[in-house]
Amino acid sequence: MKWSWKIGKFAGISVYVHATFLILIAWLVLTEWGATHNGRAVLNAVLFILALFACVVAHEFGHALAARRFGISTRDITLLPIGGVSSLERIPDDPRQELWVALAGPAVSVAIGTLILVVLWVTGAGSHFSRTGPWGNVPFFEQLLLANFVLAVFNLLPAFPLDGGRVFRALLARRMDYSKATRIAANVGQGMAFFFALLGLFGNPFLLLIALFVWIGAGQEAASVQIKSALRGIPVSEVTVTDFSTVSSSDTLARPVELMLHGTQQDFPVVDHGRLTGILTRKELLSGLSQTGPDTPVSQVMRKEYQVISSTEMLQTASEKLQGPDSRVLLVMEGERLLGLFTIENLSEFVMVQSALRDAGKKPGSIHQEQRPVKRDGSPKLIVQ
Ligand SMILES: [Zn+2]
Repeated sequence: MKWSWKIGKFAGISVYVHATFLILIAWLVLTEWGATHNGRAVLNAVLFILALFACVVAHEFGHALAARRFGISTRDITLLPIGGVSSLERIPDDPRQELWVALAGPAVSVAIGTLILVVLWVTGAGSHFSRTGPWGNVPFFEQLLLANFVLAVFNLLPAFPLDGGRVFRALLARRMDYSKATRIAANVGQGMAFFFALLGLFGNPFLLLIALFVWIGAGQEAASVQIKSALRGIPVSEVTVTDFSTVSSSDTLARPVELMLHGTQQDFPVVDHGRLTGILTRKELLSGLSQTGPDTPVSQVMRKEYQVISSTEMLQTASEKLQGPDSRVLLVMEGERLLGLFTIENLSEFVMVQSALRDAGKKPGSIHQEQRPVKRDGSPKLIVQ
């Protein structure tokens, strides 16, 4: 994450603190000073928040180490004013694994709370719940133990993508399709976010921030799962643009300019004597035009390296190939023959169509759609569900 400083590395995972965390400390110092005008109280409040965030780090390590057991590594853990965020390399799509990873964090919080409770009880320090802690009149450890239980309970609310929401999705996914489970969990999560925001308006500004975090997170994760599931098992040939123009390397740039202005194609395969020799993307076309004008031969600006994909490969592979910074088009090959073009725009149109069809299928009075069987994993299944 940008604006983060590394504060240490434990069990091979770097822990960062985000710059906004300092705002939290500053806010705490100012409000505590305003209320008490007592330096010791301010110090206590700051020490408490640091101890609490140490517990939050332990909670995040609960997730990270559980994920590691399933072979998923964690890039880093970052502390934000609203809590910690573990950047897992990927979210486990096996519901059983997701369940354990999600539960591991709250389990650590409960364990810390219980440990403090037991120590207070054994040492007698906690015989009265509000007894003074080691720092003057603040019941420091009692507060910390309560905070850990609150942390566990709050995180277990079904506010996807918080832990409880992940548990909820994992439980749903055992009895229904994963993307449907995600959609339901994300809807419930956004409903909870709305509720948090309402509560936040009447007092706690952190709830507003958490509401925003949950709302955006739920939307993003639902979208990415939807895309993944829309792509699964569908060959590239289904989404290839087969109606396209080619240019030859001896053409001038005037020809692709005309094709671009009178059509929708932006990238042109270069074919000489029936053989594919390169590609001219919009980027090279425009930079060639601006440097040497429309009479420049295509051969001077075309790119000789290009990415190809076989028409029988799956959309998932095609979308991974398009992830690179400089790759916006794939040439789809059917054996040695150029079948067509595949771009990010095709991919997003395909996802939009799939989602529109799914919505239409949900409406009771909708027109019955033609359901086209597609070979997936060797067995005929339907695109439209
Ligand atoms: Zn958690």
